[in-house]
Amino acid sequence: MSIAVLKFGGTSVSDAQAMRQVTHIVREAVSSYDHVVVVTSAMGKSPDPQDTVKVTDLLLNAARSAAGGDADTYQRTRRLLADKHHAAIDALVTNLDDRRDISNEVDDLLDGFEALCASVRVLGEVTPRALDTIAGLGERMAARVLAGALRSAGISAEAVDATELIVTNDRYQSASPLMDLTRERTRARLLPMLERGLVPVVTGFIGATQSGVPTTLGRGGSDYSASIIAAVLDADIVFNYTDVDGVLTTDPRIVPEARTIATLTAQEISEMAYFGASVLHPMTITPLIEKNIPLRVKNTFNPTHPGTLIVYQADASKADGAIKAITAIKNVSLITVAGSGMKGVPGIAARTFSTVARTGTSVLMISQASSEQSICFVVPRAAAANIVAALKETFQDEIAHREIDGVEAFDRASIITVVGAGISETPGVSGRVFGTLGEHHINVYAIAQGSSECAISFIVAEDRCDDAVRALHFLTQPC
Ligand code: ASP
Ligand code: MG
Repeated sequence: MSIAVLKFGGTSVSDAQAMRQVTHIVREAVSSYDHVVVVTSAMGKSPDPQDTVKVTDLLLNAARSAAGGDADTYQRTRRLLADKHHAAIDALVTNLDDRRDISNEVDDLLDGFEALCASVRVLGEVTPRALDTIAGLGERMAARVLAGALRSAGISAEAVDATELIVTNDRYQSASPLMDLTRERTRARLLPMLERGLVPVVTGFIGATQSGVPTTLGRGGSDYSASIIAAVLDADIVFNYTDVDGVLTTDPRIVPEARTIATLTAQEISEMAYFGASVLHPMTITPLIEKNIPLRVKNTFNPTHPGTLIVYQADASKADGAIKAITAIKNVSLITVAGSGMKGVPGIAARTFSTVARTGTSVLMISQASSEQSICFVVPRAAAANIVAALKETFQDEIAHREIDGVEAFDRASIITVVGAGISETPGVSGRVFGTLGEHHINVYAIAQGSSECAISFIVAEDRCDDAVRALHFLTQPC
């Protein structure tokens, strides 16, 4: 018995035309696999330049502005969302009863949205818990519309809210699944549907706590939803449908010649997801690794392209030190704590990072030279000023005694990461990377190589970031 999980991202369900394309892909999958489960994102922005509606963004913006006392934005948002979903329903759902039922369900969800925003406005604040309930409405609407579109295309499909399937902790806005409970509930709900020949159309992004309060898995979390569901169903494969031909060697906005990578290991894709390539939610691969479930990233709008296959066996992708991809994160700051009095003094690093942790910031990269005279680390730029102030306070005695010279932020920084299995163990790769940067007169401010054998990360000035990515892209090898 084979099960395929097909996940469609926001652009794949952004309007009637895109959803029609999805129905073709699902039909094809239904003929190739015994069972198919669809997981959908909320409707994203369609290619139509008039369309500015990315549903999840709009929902969250409306909730936040309601908290600030604004009564107009959420009402305008409601109208935009109603128009977008009703247009898709009218174009795709041909059975009139079904059309009416789905329209009513969408209107009920939008009524709920308006009521929630109205109370947020009265309260003057929006809690993470309320934001999750509001943010998840986009997936609930999309799943209903897509299930209706599939039924009209002759495929027996039924929308399912993942609040019935994925049980999470209560860390609102980036909840973690409780896998045992999720396995129990998902199998109990979906297996009988599959047995009856139905295609469940499950909402991505959302789950619920054990007591039933809606949560979300974090922005971009529908990818993660699909792999959680695949893992608990012991599925054979996950297809992650997006709007590009798979995972690219780098950002095509910087390098138009960027190519699709045929295969990547789980570790390589994790490094890429973490370091700025917005391919998959960073947790996507985790549930699949243990079960060895392959994932293929494919293009909804170019479905014959093979896309990118993510594999787990170490030898499946030759770990010969080939550079596969270059990623970049902009808008970061490099913070340095430096001073000759730090040398050999235990506890400076611990105090530095506990101070950073107290600001609620996560650190993207760390580097310390063996002379121990400085520690530098990278954080999102918006957090830098706060962190510098907090560190100056933590180390005020050391600064007064000149043991620490100071705490400084280099604000125009970017992180570049070079990804490829085995690159940090292969002699000569670092030489080629840094040699290339040298030839282009691009200065490197800090390097971190230790974290994983398949990535080398370093800091360059943000205004040289694109130049560095372009130059390094010549080192990627066809694979
Ligand atoms: N709709 C959610 C978001 O925009 C989840 C997703 O699309 O993966 O973050
Ligand atoms: Mg996504």
